[in-house]
Amino acid sequence: MATYSYRCRVHGEFDARLPLGAAPGSRGCPVCGTQAPRRWSGVALLGRGPAVALVDRCERSRTEPEVVTSIPARPRTARRPAPSAAAHRLPRP
Ligand SMILES: [Zn+2]
Repeated sequence: MATYSYRCRVHGEFDARLPLGAAPGSRGCPVCGTQAPRRWSGVALLGRGPAVALVDRCERSRTEPEVVTSIPARPRTARRPAPSAAAHRLPRP
């Protein structure tokens, strides 16, 4: 889904959420019903990718928030041993 912008000459700009590539060149104004031409924006240039997935997830969280029932487990990371003093010694001339 993508957000497309249209501009009515009387009532100004309004948005419509439509599938990618399905936006008509003009759309009826939600107030007066007259055909409003589409306004081009950079949103359509994002394509499908992590940025679009993040935007979709953020928008979905408004109406369908993710519910957490427990504290997430800490990721297991291997502890590296501290570097020895010999590793910091400069070579002798
Ligand atoms: Zn209008």
